[in-house]
Amino acid sequence: MVKEKIDEVIEISDLILFVVDGRSELTSLDFEFAEILRKSGKKIILVVNKMEGRIDSEIHLSPFTVLGLGEPFPISAIHKQNITELIEKILSLIPNVEIEKEKKLIKFAFIGRPNSGKSSLVNALIGKYRNIVSEIPGTTRDTVDIIWEFNGKKYMILDTPGLRRPSRIEEELEELSVRKTLNTIKRLDVAIMVIDLSVGIREQEKRILHYIEDKGKSCLIVFNKTDLFPSLKERREFEKIVPSLISPFDYFPFIFTSALTGYNVKKIIPWVDKLYELSHMRIPTSQINVAIQEALSRVSFSKKGKSLKIYYATQVETAPPKIIFFVNEPEIMNKNVQKYFEKFIRNYFSWTGTPIKIEVRKRE
Ligand code: GDP
Repeated sequence: MVKEKIDEVIEISDLILFVVDGRSELTSLDFEFAEILRKSGKKIILVVNKMEGRIDSEIHLSPFTVLGLGEPFPISAIHKQNITELIEKILSLIPNVEIEKEKKLIKFAFIGRPNSGKSSLVNALIGKYRNIVSEIPGTTRDTVDIIWEFNGKKYMILDTPGLRRPSRIEEELEELSVRKTLNTIKRLDVAIMVIDLSVGIREQEKRILHYIEDKGKSCLIVFNKTDLFPSLKERREFEKIVPSLISPFDYFPFIFTSALTGYNVKKIIPWVDKLYELSHMRIPTSQINVAIQEALSRVSFSKKGKSLKIYYATQVETAPPKIIFFVNEPEIMNKNVQKYFEKFIRNYFSWTGTPIKIEVRKRE
Protein backbone atom coordinates (compact mmCIF):
# COMPACT_ATOMS: atom_id res chain seq x y z
CA MET A 1 0.00 0.00 0.00
CA VAL A 2 2.83 2.35 0.82
CA LYS A 3 4.39 1.65 -2.56
CA GLU A 4 1.12 2.43 -4.31
CA LYS A 5 0.75 5.68 -2.41
CA ILE A 6 4.29 6.68 -3.30
CA ASP A 7 3.70 6.02 -6.98
CA GLU A 8 0.64 8.21 -6.81
CA VAL A 9 2.50 11.04 -5.09
CA ILE A 10 5.35 10.84 -7.60
CA GLU A 11 2.88 10.93 -10.44
CA ILE A 12 1.25 14.19 -9.38
CA SER A 13 4.46 15.96 -8.35
CA ASP A 14 6.59 18.30 -10.43
CA LEU A 15 9.47 18.15 -8.01
CA ILE A 16 10.27 15.70 -5.23
CA LEU A 17 12.31 16.37 -2.11
CA PHE A 18 13.76 13.11 -0.90
CA VAL A 19 14.73 13.62 2.73
CA VAL A 20 17.31 11.44 4.44
CA ASP A 21 18.69 11.50 7.95
CA GLY A 22 22.16 13.05 7.94
CA ARG A 23 23.02 11.50 11.25
CA SER A 24 22.29 7.88 10.34
CA GLU A 25 23.60 5.38 7.87
CA LEU A 26 21.58 4.94 4.74
CA THR A 27 19.12 2.07 5.02
CA SER A 28 18.08 -0.45 2.40
CA LEU A 29 14.75 1.37 2.26
CA ASP A 30 16.56 4.60 1.31
CA PHE A 31 18.19 2.76 -1.58
CA GLU A 32 14.89 1.26 -2.63
CA PHE A 33 13.18 4.68 -2.67
CA ALA A 34 16.11 6.22 -4.47
CA GLU A 35 15.75 3.69 -7.23
CA ILE A 36 12.03 4.34 -7.60
CA LEU A 37 12.71 8.07 -7.76
CA ARG A 38 15.50 7.71 -10.30
CA LYS A 39 13.27 5.68 -12.56
CA SER A 40 10.42 8.20 -12.24
CA GLY A 41 12.32 10.70 -14.35
CA LYS A 42 11.04 13.50 -12.09
CA LYS A 43 13.13 16.35 -10.78
CA ILE A 44 14.54 15.46 -7.40
CA ILE A 45 16.39 17.24 -4.64
CA LEU A 46 18.16 14.92 -2.22
CA VAL A 47 17.77 16.73 1.09
CA VAL A 48 20.07 15.65 3.90
CA ASN A 49 18.58 16.79 7.19
CA LYS A 50 20.02 17.21 10.69
CA MET A 51 23.19 18.77 9.30
CA GLU A 52 23.38 21.65 11.77
CA GLY A 53 26.93 22.90 12.03
CA ARG A 54 27.99 20.66 9.17
CA ILE A 55 26.33 22.43 6.26
CA ASP A 56 29.63 23.01 4.49
CA SER A 57 31.17 19.66 5.32
CA GLU A 58 31.78 17.69 2.16
CA ILE A 59 33.04 14.70 4.08
CA HIS A 60 29.72 14.36 5.87
CA LEU A 61 27.79 14.66 2.63
CA SER A 62 29.77 12.32 0.43
CA PRO A 63 28.17 9.07 1.73
CA PHE A 64 24.85 10.25 0.27
CA THR A 65 26.09 10.65 -3.27
CA VAL A 66 25.89 6.86 -3.74
CA LEU A 67 22.09 7.19 -3.97
CA GLY A 68 22.59 8.53 -7.46
CA LEU A 69 20.17 11.41 -6.97
CA GLY A 70 22.59 14.20 -7.70
CA GLU A 71 24.35 16.45 -5.27
CA PRO A 72 23.02 16.13 -1.71
CA PHE A 73 21.52 19.31 -0.26
CA PRO A 74 22.32 19.71 3.45
CA ILE A 75 19.86 21.43 5.79
CA SER A 76 18.86 21.56 9.40
CA ALA A 77 15.10 21.73 9.71
CA ILE A 78 15.08 22.37 13.45
CA HIS A 79 17.87 24.92 13.38
CA LYS A 80 16.57 26.45 10.14
CA GLN A 81 19.91 26.26 8.40
CA ASN A 82 20.13 26.46 4.62
CA ILE A 83 16.33 26.64 4.37
CA THR A 84 16.08 29.84 2.35
CA GLU A 85 18.68 28.42 -0.01
CA LEU A 86 16.53 25.32 -0.35
CA ILE A 87 13.48 27.44 -1.15
CA GLU A 88 15.49 29.22 -3.79
CA LYS A 89 16.55 25.91 -5.31
CA ILE A 90 12.95 24.68 -5.30
CA LEU A 91 11.81 27.86 -7.04
CA SER A 92 14.48 27.46 -9.68
CA LEU A 93 13.35 23.93 -10.43
CA ILE A 94 9.57 24.12 -10.47
CA PRO A 95 8.08 24.44 -13.92
CA ASN A 96 6.66 27.67 -15.20
CA VAL A 97 3.03 27.45 -14.19
CA GLU A 98 2.13 30.36 -16.43
CA ILE A 99 2.14 28.11 -19.45
CA GLU A 100 -0.67 26.01 -18.04
CA LYS A 101 -2.67 29.03 -16.98
CA GLU A 102 -2.51 30.55 -20.42
CA LYS A 103 -4.63 27.79 -21.80
CA LYS A 104 -7.31 28.57 -19.29
CA LEU A 105 -10.39 30.67 -19.76
CA ILE A 106 -10.07 34.12 -18.32
CA LYS A 107 -13.02 34.63 -16.03
CA PHE A 108 -14.39 38.06 -15.40
CA ALA A 109 -17.64 39.64 -14.27
CA PHE A 110 -19.35 42.99 -14.20
CA ILE A 111 -20.17 43.94 -10.66
CA GLY A 112 -22.07 46.94 -9.45
CA ARG A 113 -25.30 48.44 -8.33
CA PRO A 114 -28.52 47.68 -10.27
CA ASN A 115 -28.90 50.16 -13.13
CA SER A 116 -25.22 51.04 -13.35
CA GLY A 117 -25.19 49.56 -16.83
CA LYS A 118 -23.77 46.07 -16.39
CA SER A 119 -26.03 44.33 -18.89
CA SER A 120 -25.73 47.21 -21.32
CA LEU A 121 -21.95 46.84 -21.16
CA VAL A 122 -22.15 43.09 -21.73
CA ASN A 123 -24.41 43.78 -24.68
CA ALA A 124 -22.11 46.43 -26.04
CA LEU A 125 -19.18 44.06 -25.75
CA ILE A 126 -20.78 40.95 -27.09
CA GLY A 127 -23.64 42.33 -29.06
CA LYS A 128 -21.46 43.42 -31.91
CA TYR A 129 -19.51 40.23 -32.24
CA ARG A 130 -21.94 37.57 -31.12
CA ASN A 131 -19.22 35.02 -30.69
CA ILE A 132 -20.92 33.30 -27.82
CA VAL A 133 -19.70 29.77 -27.50
CA SER A 134 -22.13 28.70 -24.83
CA GLU A 135 -24.28 29.86 -21.97
CA ILE A 136 -24.48 27.95 -18.73
CA PRO A 137 -26.54 28.75 -15.67
CA GLY A 138 -24.70 31.06 -13.26
CA THR A 139 -24.60 30.86 -9.52
CA THR A 140 -27.42 33.27 -8.89
CA ARG A 141 -30.97 33.18 -10.08
CA ASP A 142 -31.60 34.43 -13.61
CA THR A 143 -27.93 34.73 -14.43
CA VAL A 144 -25.73 32.91 -16.89
CA ASP A 145 -22.04 32.30 -17.39
CA ILE A 146 -21.24 33.16 -20.96
CA ILE A 147 -18.31 31.55 -22.68
CA TRP A 148 -17.26 33.95 -25.34
CA GLU A 149 -14.55 33.99 -27.93
CA PHE A 150 -12.79 37.16 -28.90
CA ASN A 151 -9.56 37.68 -30.86
CA GLY A 152 -8.91 33.95 -30.72
CA LYS A 153 -9.13 33.84 -26.93
CA LYS A 154 -11.85 32.42 -24.75
CA TYR A 155 -13.38 34.28 -21.86
CA MET A 156 -16.05 33.46 -19.36
CA ILE A 157 -18.30 36.29 -18.28
CA LEU A 158 -19.67 35.16 -14.96
CA ASP A 159 -23.13 35.65 -13.57
CA THR A 160 -24.34 38.09 -16.16
CA PRO A 161 -28.00 38.96 -16.07
CA GLY A 162 -28.24 37.24 -19.41
CA LEU A 163 -29.03 38.81 -22.69
CA ARG A 164 -32.65 37.91 -22.43
CA ARG A 165 -33.59 38.65 -18.94
CA PRO A 166 -37.03 38.29 -17.42
CA SER A 167 -38.73 40.90 -15.29
CA ARG A 168 -36.31 43.22 -13.60
CA ILE A 169 -38.68 44.82 -11.17
CA GLU A 170 -37.50 42.80 -8.25
CA GLU A 171 -33.85 43.42 -8.93
CA GLU A 172 -34.26 47.13 -9.36
CA LEU A 173 -35.58 47.40 -5.87
CA GLU A 174 -32.44 45.79 -4.53
CA GLU A 175 -29.34 47.64 -3.57
CA LEU A 176 -25.90 46.49 -4.55
CA SER A 177 -25.80 43.39 -2.43
CA VAL A 178 -22.45 42.34 -1.06
CA ARG A 179 -23.82 38.94 -0.16
CA LYS A 180 -24.95 38.16 -3.69
CA THR A 181 -21.74 39.44 -5.19
CA LEU A 182 -19.40 37.42 -3.00
CA ASN A 183 -19.80 34.13 -4.83
CA THR A 184 -19.13 35.78 -8.15
CA ILE A 185 -16.00 37.44 -6.82
CA LYS A 186 -14.65 34.16 -5.50
CA ARG A 187 -14.96 32.59 -8.94
CA LEU A 188 -13.49 35.30 -11.11
CA ASP A 189 -9.99 36.30 -12.20
CA VAL A 190 -10.77 39.93 -12.96
CA ALA A 191 -13.60 41.97 -11.48
CA ILE A 192 -15.06 44.87 -13.41
CA MET A 193 -16.64 47.24 -10.96
CA VAL A 194 -19.21 49.31 -12.81
CA ILE A 195 -20.06 52.66 -11.29
CA ASP A 196 -22.80 54.88 -12.61
CA LEU A 197 -21.22 58.31 -12.94
CA SER A 198 -24.50 60.01 -12.19
CA VAL A 199 -24.68 58.14 -8.88
CA GLY A 200 -21.03 58.02 -7.86
CA ILE A 201 -19.18 55.91 -5.34
CA ARG A 202 -20.85 55.04 -2.11
CA GLU A 203 -19.99 52.96 0.91
CA GLN A 204 -21.25 49.76 -0.68
CA GLU A 205 -18.84 50.04 -3.60
CA LYS A 206 -16.00 50.44 -1.15
CA ARG A 207 -17.07 47.35 0.72
CA ILE A 208 -17.05 45.36 -2.49
CA LEU A 209 -13.62 46.71 -3.44
CA HIS A 210 -12.41 45.73 -0.01
CA TYR A 211 -13.74 42.24 -0.54
CA ILE A 212 -12.11 42.00 -3.97
CA GLU A 213 -8.79 42.95 -2.39
CA ASP A 214 -9.28 40.53 0.45
CA LYS A 215 -9.88 37.67 -1.96
CA GLY A 216 -6.76 38.67 -3.88
CA LYS A 217 -8.57 39.43 -7.13
CA SER A 218 -7.73 41.95 -9.80
CA CYS A 219 -10.11 44.76 -10.57
CA LEU A 220 -10.86 47.34 -13.22
CA ILE A 221 -13.12 50.20 -12.22
CA VAL A 222 -15.42 51.36 -14.98
CA PHE A 223 -17.21 54.68 -14.69
CA ASN A 224 -20.16 54.20 -16.98
CA LYS A 225 -22.67 56.62 -18.48
CA THR A 226 -19.90 59.07 -19.37
CA ASP A 227 -22.24 60.49 -22.02
CA LEU A 228 -24.25 62.05 -19.20
CA PHE A 229 -21.22 63.98 -18.03
CA PRO A 230 -21.60 67.64 -18.91
CA SER A 231 -18.20 68.32 -20.49
CA LEU A 232 -14.76 66.93 -21.03
CA LYS A 233 -13.32 69.63 -18.83
CA GLU A 234 -15.45 68.59 -15.91
CA ARG A 235 -14.56 65.00 -16.51
CA ARG A 236 -10.87 65.85 -16.33
CA GLU A 237 -11.50 67.54 -13.01
CA PHE A 238 -13.31 64.48 -11.78
CA GLU A 239 -10.52 62.20 -12.99
CA LYS A 240 -8.11 63.99 -10.70
CA ILE A 241 -10.11 63.20 -7.58
CA VAL A 242 -10.89 59.59 -8.45
CA PRO A 243 -7.80 58.16 -6.66
CA SER A 244 -8.86 59.83 -3.43
CA LEU A 245 -12.44 58.64 -3.89
CA ILE A 246 -11.40 55.02 -4.27
CA SER A 247 -8.48 55.13 -1.82
CA PRO A 248 -7.03 52.85 -0.47
CA PHE A 249 -7.94 50.85 -3.57
CA ASP A 250 -6.37 53.39 -5.89
CA TYR A 251 -4.08 50.73 -7.34
CA PHE A 252 -7.10 49.46 -9.27
CA PRO A 253 -7.08 51.22 -12.66
CA PHE A 254 -10.18 53.03 -13.88
CA ILE A 255 -11.64 53.99 -17.23
CA PHE A 256 -14.66 55.95 -18.45
CA THR A 257 -17.18 54.27 -20.70
CA SER A 258 -20.57 54.70 -22.19
CA ALA A 259 -22.51 51.55 -22.97
CA LEU A 260 -24.99 53.78 -24.76
CA THR A 261 -22.60 55.31 -27.29
CA GLY A 262 -20.02 52.53 -27.15
CA TYR A 263 -17.38 54.94 -25.91
CA ASN A 264 -14.27 53.06 -24.62
CA VAL A 265 -16.07 49.73 -24.55
CA LYS A 266 -13.29 48.34 -26.70
CA LYS A 267 -10.81 49.10 -23.94
CA ILE A 268 -12.38 46.64 -21.55
CA ILE A 269 -10.98 43.37 -22.92
CA PRO A 270 -7.40 44.63 -23.32
CA TRP A 271 -7.61 45.69 -19.68
CA VAL A 272 -8.92 42.29 -18.63
CA ASP A 273 -6.01 40.64 -20.44
CA LYS A 274 -3.50 43.01 -18.91
CA LEU A 275 -4.83 42.61 -15.38
CA TYR A 276 -4.84 38.84 -15.73
CA GLU A 277 -1.24 38.98 -16.89
CA LEU A 278 -0.16 41.29 -14.08
CA SER A 279 -1.72 39.10 -11.42
CA HIS A 280 0.16 36.10 -12.82
CA MET A 281 3.45 37.93 -13.17
CA ARG A 282 6.47 36.37 -11.49
CA ILE A 283 9.34 38.66 -10.54
CA PRO A 284 12.73 36.98 -10.21
CA THR A 285 14.00 36.92 -6.65
CA SER A 286 17.09 38.91 -7.53
CA GLN A 287 14.98 41.79 -8.89
CA ILE A 288 12.66 41.81 -5.90
CA ASN A 289 15.66 42.09 -3.64
CA VAL A 290 17.13 44.99 -5.57
CA ALA A 291 13.80 46.81 -5.16
CA ILE A 292 13.61 46.01 -1.47
CA GLN A 293 17.11 47.18 -0.69
CA GLU A 294 16.31 50.39 -2.52
CA ALA A 295 13.14 50.79 -0.47
CA LEU A 296 15.09 50.13 2.70
CA SER A 297 17.75 52.66 1.80
CA ARG A 298 15.15 55.44 1.70
CA VAL A 299 13.46 54.84 5.01
CA SER A 300 14.75 52.96 8.01
CA PHE A 301 12.47 51.19 10.40
CA SER A 302 13.29 50.40 13.98
CA LYS A 303 11.77 49.48 17.27
CA LYS A 304 13.28 49.36 20.74
CA GLY A 305 16.71 50.24 19.38
CA LYS A 306 16.73 47.47 16.81
CA SER A 307 16.54 48.27 13.17
CA LEU A 308 14.85 46.22 10.54
CA LYS A 309 17.05 44.06 8.33
CA ILE A 310 15.58 42.27 5.36
CA TYR A 311 17.81 39.38 4.44
CA TYR A 312 15.87 38.15 1.54
CA ALA A 313 12.45 38.25 -0.09
CA THR A 314 10.96 35.97 -2.68
CA GLN A 315 7.71 35.69 -4.56
CA VAL A 316 6.14 32.34 -3.80
CA GLU A 317 2.74 32.63 -5.43
CA THR A 318 0.85 34.37 -8.20
CA ALA A 319 -2.76 35.47 -8.58
CA PRO A 320 -2.49 37.16 -6.20
CA PRO A 321 1.24 37.61 -6.01
CA LYS A 322 2.59 36.70 -2.59
CA ILE A 323 6.01 37.73 -1.35
CA ILE A 324 7.70 36.30 1.71
CA PHE A 325 10.14 38.56 3.55
CA PHE A 326 12.83 36.95 5.70
CA VAL A 327 13.76 39.52 8.33
CA ASN A 328 15.61 39.87 11.63
CA GLU A 329 12.69 41.33 13.62
CA PRO A 330 9.22 40.50 12.23
CA GLU A 331 7.68 42.73 14.90
CA ILE A 332 9.07 45.83 13.24
CA MET A 333 7.43 44.87 10.00
CA ASN A 334 3.89 45.66 11.07
CA LYS A 335 0.99 46.30 8.69
CA ASN A 336 2.06 49.88 8.00
CA VAL A 337 5.61 48.91 7.16
CA GLN A 338 4.28 46.10 4.98
CA LYS A 339 2.12 48.64 3.18
CA TYR A 340 5.19 50.77 2.54
CA PHE A 341 6.99 47.87 0.88
CA GLU A 342 3.89 46.78 -0.99
CA LYS A 343 3.53 50.26 -2.41
CA PHE A 344 7.20 50.51 -3.25
CA ILE A 345 7.22 47.16 -5.05
CA ARG A 346 4.01 48.06 -6.83
CA ASN A 347 5.50 51.28 -8.19
CA TYR A 348 8.87 49.77 -8.92
CA PHE A 349 7.46 47.04 -11.14
CA SER A 350 4.37 48.96 -12.33
CA TRP A 351 2.36 46.23 -10.72
CA THR A 352 -1.13 47.69 -10.79
CA GLY A 353 -4.56 46.21 -10.53
CA THR A 354 -3.78 43.27 -8.32
CA PRO A 355 -3.48 43.02 -4.55
CA ILE A 356 0.01 41.96 -3.44
CA LYS A 357 0.17 39.80 -0.34
CA ILE A 358 3.11 40.02 2.03
CA GLU A 359 4.18 37.49 4.60
CA VAL A 360 6.94 38.11 7.11
CA ARG A 361 9.15 35.44 8.61
CA LYS A 362 11.94 35.57 11.09
CA ARG A 363 15.33 34.42 9.94
CA GLU A 364 17.97 33.60 12.53
P1 GDP B 1 -27.65 46.88 -14.85
O1 GDP B 1 -28.79 46.80 -13.92
O2 GDP B 1 -26.41 47.30 -14.15
O3 GDP B 1 -27.45 45.68 -15.69
O4 GDP B 1 -27.97 48.13 -15.82
P2 GDP B 1 -28.57 48.15 -17.31
O5 GDP B 1 -27.53 47.75 -18.27
O6 GDP B 1 -29.83 47.40 -17.35
O7 GDP B 1 -28.82 49.70 -17.50
C1 GDP B 1 -29.69 50.42 -16.66
C2 GDP B 1 -30.20 51.65 -17.38
O8 GDP B 1 -29.12 52.54 -17.66
C3 GDP B 1 -30.84 51.34 -18.71
O9 GDP B 1 -31.94 52.18 -18.89
C4 GDP B 1 -29.75 51.65 -19.73
O10 GDP B 1 -30.25 52.03 -20.98
C5 GDP B 1 -29.04 52.80 -19.06
N1 GDP B 1 -27.61 52.86 -19.43
C6 GDP B 1 -26.70 51.86 -19.40
N2 GDP B 1 -25.50 52.29 -19.80
C7 GDP B 1 -25.63 53.61 -20.11
C8 GDP B 1 -24.75 54.63 -20.59
O11 GDP B 1 -23.54 54.43 -20.81
N3 GDP B 1 -25.26 55.87 -20.75
C9 GDP B 1 -26.57 56.15 -20.48
N4 GDP B 1 -26.96 57.39 -20.65
N5 GDP B 1 -27.43 55.23 -20.05
C10 GDP B 1 -26.99 53.97 -19.86
